[in-house]
Amino acid sequence: MSCFHTANVANETLFHDLPNVSQVTFGSDELQAQKNRDTNAISVINFFHKNIAHGPEYVCTCCDQLWYKTSVVKCDANKYKSCSQDVVKSCLTGFKSVNDIEWICITCDSNLKKGKLPSCSKANKMGFPDKPDVLNLTSLEERIISPRIPFMQIRELSRGGQLSIHGNIVNVPSDVNSTVHYLPRPPSESQTIPIKLKRRLSYKHHYQFQNVRPKRVLDAAKYLVDTSDLFRGEGIEVQNRWLNDTMY
Ligand SMILES: [Zn+2]
Repeated sequence: MSCFHTANVANETLFHDLPNVSQVTFGSDELQAQKNRDTNAISVINFFHKNIAHGPEYVCTCCDQLWYKTSVVKCDANKYKSCSQDVVKSCLTGFKSVNDIEWICITCDSNLKKGKLPSCSKANKMGFPDKPDVLNLTSLEERIISPRIPFMQIRELSRGGQLSIHGNIVNVPSDVNSTVHYLPRPPSESQTIPIKLKRRLSYKHHYQFQNVRPKRVLDAAKYLVDTSDLFRGEGIEVQNRWLNDTMY
């Protein structure tokens, strides 16, 4: 009982010590300080929006990679006097991106200034190959015809919506032929079939669940078997009998 009473007394004291809302007033100095803080916050927010207005959309004319504004400079062929003119000509492709300007990344720029061929340049055969329409597949369709299944942790970065790989990557070879054998016979080219991908058959829950287009998967598999060194190296063949079965 005595404890309870003591607690009540303490609470009363506490409430008496607090000023009423009407008693809280600002002096002119405090008001000015508050205004300054507000102005600072607005300018910081405006600065942030200005900084994120442009994403990684600056294309390096030399290596074809996408960069942020801070990582590129305007391309000027006259800066590379110590570099052989053949290298300069092969590296500067004339590709223009943001504001219709030819940009070059700082790495390629410094390499050319030193008279070196940038290691990631298109002239060094490091350009990105064109992606044919036949390879426009969903992520699960890609997994079905992949000769290797990579296991990796992909996490979303804290801002910008980009993804990053965390930790090690494990490459597991997969048997494309047996995957193709397990697909059911589709009655038409436009048919889709639902596939659940599990990490193991014994697991209750699936990892991915999507509809896939068997015709698109087979077309992509055939294209890759015909053109890709990786698929040839693995000795992968597409079963022609299976392909014929799908074409009715
Ligand atoms: Zn570059």
